[in-house]
Amino acid sequence: TLPSDCPPDVEALGRSTWTLLHTIAATYPSSATPTQQTEMKKFITLFSRVYPCWVCAEDFQEYLKEPENKLKVVEEEKGRGHLSGRSEFGLWMCKAHNNVNVKLGKKEFDCSKWEERWRTGWKDGRCD
Ligand code: FAD
Repeated sequence: TLPSDCPPDVEALGRSTWTLLHTIAATYPSSATPTQQTEMKKFITLFSRVYPCWVCAEDFQEYLKEPENKLKVVEEEKGRGHLSGRSEFGLWMCKAHNNVNVKLGKKEFDCSKWEERWRTGWKDGRCD
């Protein structure tokens, strides 16, 4: 790894960016209004266009187009989608990250633990 006061390489940029993205999911409302969903959908779409690792960005844009990964705004009375609330969006983000992990030959993360990693801290209390 480079000294921490050097411009980031793809790895350092990725680690910082996943920290931001998972933390955004961790602080997303447990039940999001259509406006909050629309804003998050725009943020992710724009993020996928401006992320300054161009191969990463291109692959992420393709990932966002897959029918099962598409972010849609869903009104409360019409059921729940990936943007309906924190648990759905956090899981969506975890799966998006795992997609990159698999591509890079890294271990998949157990998505049942995303909230301990990024929101509450681990059950053993080491983050308290
Ligand atoms: P990271 O993958 O950065 O993970 C950081 C920490 O997050 C881990 O230590 C773990 O505690 C936790 N974590 C791991 N997986 C998950 C998960 N699924 N859910 C929740 N938490 C998790 N690099 C490339 O070389 N090529 C690419 O095409 C590429 N595309 C990217 C696309 C995006 C949108 C982003 C944000 C990054 C991308 N990267 C890419 C960078 C890559 O994902 C890693 O960030 C980088 O390789 C550093 O990896 P790392 O092993 O330090 O841990």
